[in-house]
Amino acid sequence: MANIPYKIYLSENEMPQFWMNLQAYLPKKLDPMLDPKTGRPVTEEGLRAVFTDEAVRQELNTTDKLIEIPQPILDFYRMYRPSPVVRAYNLEKMLDTPAELYYKFEGTNTSGSHKLNSAVPQVYYAREQGLTNVTTETGAGQWGTALAMATGYYGLGLKVFMVKSSAEQKPHRKAVMETYGGTVIPSPSDTTAVGRKILQEHPGTGGSLGCAISEAVEVALNQEGTRYLLGSVLNHVLLHQSVIGLEAKAALDKYNITPDVVIGCTGGGSNFGGLIAPYMADRLEGKNNIRFVAVEPASCPTLTRGRFAYDYGDTGRMTPLMKMYTLGSGFIPSSNHAGGLRYHGMNPIISQLRHDGLVDAVAYEQTRVFRAAKIFCKSEGNLPAPESNHALCAAMDEAIRCKETGEKKKILFCLTGTGFFDMPAYMLYNSGKMTDSIPTDEELEQGFATLPEINL
Ligand SMILES: *Cc1c(COP(=O)(O)O)cnc(C)c1O
Repeated sequence: MANIPYKIYLSENEMPQFWMNLQAYLPKKLDPMLDPKTGRPVTEEGLRAVFTDEAVRQELNTTDKLIEIPQPILDFYRMYRPSPVVRAYNLEKMLDTPAELYYKFEGTNTSGSHKLNSAVPQVYYAREQGLTNVTTETGAGQWGTALAMATGYYGLGLKVFMVKSSAEQKPHRKAVMETYGGTVIPSPSDTTAVGRKILQEHPGTGGSLGCAISEAVEVALNQEGTRYLLGSVLNHVLLHQSVIGLEAKAALDKYNITPDVVIGCTGGGSNFGGLIAPYMADRLEGKNNIRFVAVEPASCPTLTRGRFAYDYGDTGRMTPLMKMYTLGSGFIPSSNHAGGLRYHGMNPIISQLRHDGLVDAVAYEQTRVFRAAKIFCKSEGNLPAPESNHALCAAMDEAIRCKETGEKKKILFCLTGTGFFDMPAYMLYNSGKMTDSIPTDEELEQGFATLPEINL
């Protein structure tokens, strides 16, 4: 076999021209999204009040397997893509494993993560529709930053509701978003009705993604020319993120490499869904037997301890209901440092695949993933985002198991972002003060108690 370089790049001409719509490959259609007011399946029209027209079309598209990427979006992608696949030779040596470790690195753009892959098309479609403003929520800050970059480029106004605890931990994130022209409001805030209600019920709360979504949706519904954009969870976000998997597969195919295991961290499921898309499509057509592993924080164990049920996407119960793995929209995870993974629900496609046994899920405590991250930092010279640490920890565990069994497995994982904005988390870990918080069964029951009656 050809000698595999440390970094496998595609040329610009080899970049994917199409996104892959995993939804169209599923053997059975997903259960429909339900309107929160009527309990009946949502109509395109109903969704258009909140989301852009094209996002709605893509969200509900169950037939087109490939969707062409418009040229202006490709032109933006070319500024920071293709991203490299790195053969982690030095980590392999450090672990003394016969396994081959490959990671797709999405942290090379200024937003610091894969989120930009979906921010660009979402804002492009908003501008094409003639909208002037968009709103969103951000947890760890990567999505807000990515949207600020895209709205700055396309000339749209942006209001970001940032989970208060993150806003306090990460003042630099706020500064980056403001540099691109975005407005950042710590959530819950007194600028929306739902924010005021949450503040009254939970005074002093550090907020959650679910609260911030409610605030952003409220503004989109009440302000002319404004829509809400979401950076994860929804099917059209997974669609855009398929560039990750398509590039990774094209790069590895050059060296005839098919992974045995594909691993991603899961917050709402978008990088994982994007990474696995082409491999899962093949799997569903019986062409491979790859193991797919979703990795989540033990503090927010949606796929490993959640229920597969209809639920709202937000705490304020304003979004459509989706059939998904969920901890209940009323579940507020304890604040931890895997900011981007603290969401109560999971993308419906990933949820269905998990339910059908096609996706494995594991949950890791944060101290464990930071321990793995330090080994990764030292061997690969790359300092990852805390979210990414979950995937790399699972990949390293797999490689260590290979050492015991002598298997030469090929392991592919997504390193979703850089950790430069997350140094408070590393400082806490380095000081030995980081702790783990795993919800008890009773605490999970409190979340499940908030599941809507439609599940009964
Ligand atoms: C947002 C984010 C995640 C989790 O989101 P998914 O939609 O599950 O991909 C993971 N890593 C980083 C760096 C993020 O910014």
